[in-house]
Order: sequence, then C-alpha cells, then structure tokens
Amino acid sequence: MKVKAFQFNGCKKCFNETLLLKKDSSIQLELVQNPRNWKEEKIDVAIVCGYLLPEDKEKISKIGSSAKQIIAYGDCTTTGGVFGLANQKGWSITPIDKYFEGTTKINGCLAEVEELKSEIKGEEKPKLKALCQSCKRKSTCEFLDEVKRQIDPFEDEEMCFNDQGFLCNGYVSTECKERCIDYGTQCRGCKPMVPRSGIRMLGMFGTLMGNVEVATEASKYGATDKLSDEDDDVTESLPDVVGNFFRFTLPTSGLPKGKIPSKGSVLEDIFVDRLIEEAPLITGLLGGENAISLTLSLIEAYEKGTGIDVSEKTVQYRKDLKNLENQLKTAMKDQDANKYENITSEIRRIAGNMNLSNVFFGGFKTPVGELNDFEEYKSQSFEIFEGNYKNGRIEFGIDSKGVITKIKIKEE
Ligand code: SF4
Ligand code: SF4
Ligand code: SF4
Repeated sequence: MKVKAFQFNGCKKCFNETLLLKKDSSIQLELVQNPRNWKEEKIDVAIVCGYLLPEDKEKISKIGSSAKQIIAYGDCTTTGGVFGLANQKGWSITPIDKYFEGTTKINGCLAEVEELKSEIKGEEKPKLKALCQSCKRKSTCEFLDEVKRQIDPFEDEEMCFNDQGFLCNGYVSTECKERCIDYGTQCRGCKPMVPRSGIRMLGMFGTLMGNVEVATEASKYGATDKLSDEDDDVTESLPDVVGNFFRFTLPTSGLPKGKIPSKGSVLEDIFVDRLIEEAPLITGLLGGENAISLTLSLIEAYEKGTGIDVSEKTVQYRKDLKNLENQLKTAMKDQDANKYENITSEIRRIAGNMNLSNVFFGGFKTPVGELNDFEEYKSQSFEIFEGNYKNGRIEFGIDSKGVITKIKIKEE
C-alpha cells in the first residue's frame, strides 16, 4: 500500500512518529518533508501532519485528490492544536476540514500511531472509553470554592484533580496512550471526546466551582480576548482561561478570532499570556524534534534565575534525556523505525510520555525507577518571581502572576 506522510508547518513530532509505520511490511511509506515541492502522483493514503495556513489550501486539495484516503494526523491538523492558540493574536491557523472535506481525523498531541495504522489498514476501530473511566483518581463532583494552579501542591493522590480545584480536561477527553494523568499532570484535553470541548469544560468547571463566574460574553476585543480579562473569579485564580480551556481546539471552538496584537511570530503568540507552569508542557508539545532540549532550557532558565537547586540525579536524568533526543534525530535521519521505537520507549520511561509530562521545575513529578529513591529527584514547588529569564537559546519574561509577557527562542 502506497502511503505518504506530508509535513506542513510547525512541530514534526507527529510526522516523525509515522516512521513506525515502516515496521509493517504491507505499508510502503515515504516521508515528504516539503509538500510544496511534491510532484503529484496517485497514492493510496495521504497522511497530513502539522498546522495549516491559508497558503496551504491549494496543496491540501491536490493531495486530497491524488489519494484514495486522506488522514489528518494530530491536533495541529485536525483542530489547529497548540499552534492554534496563536489565532488569539490574529493568526489564521485552520483545521483541515476548512480546506478539504471528508478527511479521516486522528486527534492527539502526540497522535497515536496505533490508531493511524488501524485506519490505514481498514481495521475495526476499538471503542474508546472516556478518559475518566480509565483514571485511577476518583471523582465526587462536590462543589469547591477554590481554583488551584499546577504550582500548588497536590493534596491527595487518589482524588480527582478537579475535586481538588486543579483543572483536568479528563471530563471531555477520550482515553489515550500518553496518559499525562499518570505523571502528575492534569489532562490538557488533546483528545476531545465531544465537539467544542473547551466551552463544555469551561461550563463544567465553572459549575463545579459553584460560586464563581466566568466572563464569556463578547467585549470590545471579541470573545476570545474577553476570556483573557481578569474581571471574573476563575480568571483571577487561574489566569489564562484561553490557554487552559482551548489549548488544542481554539480554531474549532466557535469563538471568534482574537484581536490582541501579534508579537511577531507564531511561537511568541502561542507562549505570551500562558502561565509559567504551563510553559514546559507547551515546549514539550510543540518543540518537535527539539522538544526535550527546549523544555529543559526553559526549566533551567527559571531554576537558575530563581535559585532552585536540583539534585545530581535530576541532572543525570536530564542528561540522559538530551542524549536520547540526539539519538532520536539520528534514527530519523537514518529512517530506522526500530531504533526510533527503542529510543522513544526510553524517553517515555524517564519523561513519562512523549509530551514530557513527568519533567518539571526542580526535578520529576513521579518516580522514574525505584519508588524508594524518589525524594532524590522529586520536582519542587516554586514561587513566582516577576522577572526575565535566559538560558541557551530561550529568553522570556513573566509578570507577578507568572503570566509570560515576552519570549524569544533562537533558531538552532
Ligand atoms: S504539536 Fe502535537 S499535534 Fe502538533 S505535530 Fe506536535 S505532537 Fe503533533
Ligand atoms: S477529571 Fe481527570 S483526574 Fe478526574 S477522574 Fe477524570 S481524568 Fe481523572
Ligand atoms: S491525558 Fe494527556 S495525552 Fe491523554 S488526552 Fe489528556 S492531554 Fe491528551
């Protein structure tokens, strides 16, 4: 079966993951790094990865009409993904449906290659459960009067994150392979189970909080921007409602595009207005093949600037992760699917998953190996210090609430 994977814009993690299809001898895979130069030919399956802009519309139509089946693989392509947050600042990151109808969609950030393979081979789809049904935490849905942030310590290892006041998008997500929830990180909603999942989660979270109000009406800026105001209780306690509720789905949320002026680049427009504790999770998602080094650079910038000391064991695990990132680049260059698989398993062992959910400020959120030595490399709760932070190719500033006000990421 002739299958081609096309990489459009942004992070290449989903595109790279398609390499694993090579392990199936019935799939003849070619990775097309630059679809704009692709000479059209008839193919069985086209896999589209990366986020799409209006200038990609024509190429998408051509790919669609050359292939018997077109699969949008990953949130960037299906819903705009984390890059779609830049639409708050006026960008036009567009879900594939607007450019070509009838695509098969595989959501996820990182999207799951097992689902992709079954789709290509026409296998019967397993019925996915709601994420909460596969979560070890127990939900009571009791009313709360406090919203917490990821920098606040967890009180209970068994209680649902939402019941503790932390926002967990598990209520509106399907079960997944990467399972951030098992690595001390609330579900951020990359596999939505329902349309307009952000709006639904916002409603549910507001209801759970009982006595808090969320301002969702349009303002002079438009509804998206209203959500970044600070005149309601949720936004006051959890600054950045847009980033927390529409992290992967802003272009399909139904909310109008924002009118906040762009800072200049897509990356700046994604990061600015996000929270400091969320930043490593964003670099872990959209950093593509540099996700590990970028995430660690950002974390280490804040640690250095605020005097957080990390243990030798943390340093060693981080070094291992950086080595693995280099090895992964070589495996991609050599198009070696077996090596890619082994290296990604090792990354998952240390970082929890390919979203690096286990990696945080001061160390790791959950044990990597033996439970009894976890104190040696456990992440530390930290305070917010307004200021500017710099390390390697990353430089950013935060305000007194920990909201990112500026960021520069130099090209490698
Ligand atoms: S940002 Fe997420 S969905 Fe987009 S390509 Fe990277 S891993 Fe895939
Ligand atoms: S909302 Fe999150 S923490 Fe709560 S049960 Fe669902 S997945 Fe688990
Ligand atoms: S737990 Fe993580 S990987 Fe799973 S759906 Fe939620 S955000 Fe996505």
